Amino acid sequence: MIGGGIGGLCLAQGLRRSGVAVAVYERDRDPASRWEGYRIHVSPAGARSLHACLPEHLWRAFLATAAPGGPIGFLTERLAPLVEVEEAIAYPRGDDPSEDHYAVDRRALRRLLLAGLDDVVGFGAEYESWEPGPDGRVVARFADGRRVEADLLVGADGVGSRVRRQLLPAAEPVSAGVVGIAGKVALTPEARRWVPAALQQGMHVVSDAGPGALFTAAYRPPDGAREVLAEVTGRSAPAIDEPYLLTAFVTAPHHLPPDIDTADPEALAGATDALTRGWHPDLRRLLASCDPGSRGASAFAVAPGIPTWEPSRVTLLGDAVHAVPATGGLGGNAALRDARRLTQALAARPADLVAAVGAYEADLREHGTATIDDALAVRDQMLAGGVWRTRASRAWFRLCARSATLRRMTFADGDRAVSRPRPWELAGT
Ligand SMILES: Cc1cc2nc3c(=O)[nH]c(=O)nc-3n(C[C@H](O)[C@H](O)[C@H](O)COP(=O)(O)OP(=O)(O)OC[C@H]3O[C@@H](n4cnc5c(N)ncnc54)[C@H](O)[C@@H]3O)c2cc1C
Repeated sequence: MIGGGIGGLCLAQGLRRSGVAVAVYERDRDPASRWEGYRIHVSPAGARSLHACLPEHLWRAFLATAAPGGPIGFLTERLAPLVEVEEAIAYPRGDDPSEDHYAVDRRALRRLLLAGLDDVVGFGAEYESWEPGPDGRVVARFADGRRVEADLLVGADGVGSRVRRQLLPAAEPVSAGVVGIAGKVALTPEARRWVPAALQQGMHVVSDAGPGALFTAAYRPPDGAREVLAEVTGRSAPAIDEPYLLTAFVTAPHHLPPDIDTADPEALAGATDALTRGWHPDLRRLLASCDPGSRGASAFAVAPGIPTWEPSRVTLLGDAVHAVPATGGLGGNAALRDARRLTQALAARPADLVAAVGAYEADLREHGTATIDDALAVRDQMLAGGVWRTRASRAWFRLCARSATLRRMTFADGDRAVSRPRPWELAGT
């Protein structure tokens, strides 16, 4: 497998658990060589997949380090509350923790996914291309001259996937027409005195009629999370004991300088400040207070749909095949889902490997397309702006705030529709 990100590692865990031999080749020098210090949202689709792929002790560690996903609220740029959607409507979990949603520290998740895979994951391995090998096998070639032969090559190498470029050259991702400027504010006792109280838990979208919107999400590590992480991952466990707030300002690229994704932290702060003139001072202070080392801009790409292709001994997983903008927090969950489905296909030890890969790819196409559509719909909502549209949506949100029925009608089918279990997810691993 090429790529040890969220999707590739979850697949490696699933295959190892099922007794299927697997090797992961990752370009990074080591697990800490990339900055990953922010929170991501794991939806029920992601949680279900982790539950299916992780060994029991790692699933328990996931639950012990993940914080509740929390409610989702909408506010104006002057911090006037519009509506807060309770979890019982947005993510009704019942009694099953694998059908819940979570706020997860990305470093913690990646370390959990790496746990116990020392003999499976090879760091510093930059994949270059593949070619047909003997007996229908595949040979992968690496930048250091290595050649590795396998029954199946899985491209889990993210949005810039070289595996996809060779397999599906026409499926190169295109601009998603949205840029995210992310940052992180530590919720220290001092910060908690001035960070708007509503934003200190759950997820929020703050918007005006202007050119962008702000998404915020809190991560509050559960008591003992760091110890649990250290226990399952060893001494290299990252420190995750401080609560923090993720901020992500999203806007269309033409509102920003063209080189924004390489801009330094000060320039990024200047860009969000310029786009939030007239916003409540606490919101502007929040954006200005992000830890400079945590500031980063991403000009998001999106897959131009998922084509149909002949299955073979080379396949794809996650962002490599259905890249989406981060709007909606869906891409990682879709990658986890692929990992679970491919585990299922390979764990059955199919006599016809290519047919099993084809069945996996059919399911990937279905939920991957729904993921792309949903992420773009959220992008459109966040970038809609306009005075009349904003007035109308605010009036509707205020009505929703007064009626659980309206909240249910408006919000209960959001992420849940993408996350809804597919028939293959109702089967065993
Ligand atoms: C700011 C931000 C917030 C986000 N929030 C969320 C969220 O809340 N929820 C959510 O579900 N998603 C979220 N996402 C999206 C999510 O991060 C991605 O969809 C997810 O990481 C995709 O997983 P993946 O395994 O397919 O790819 P990646 O995680 O990108 O992993 C690909 C791996 O392949 C390796 N690689 C690449 N090329 C090579 C090569 N040539 N040789 C060897 N290795 C290679 C890379 O180093 C990397 O480790 C967010 C993204 C961003 C940027």
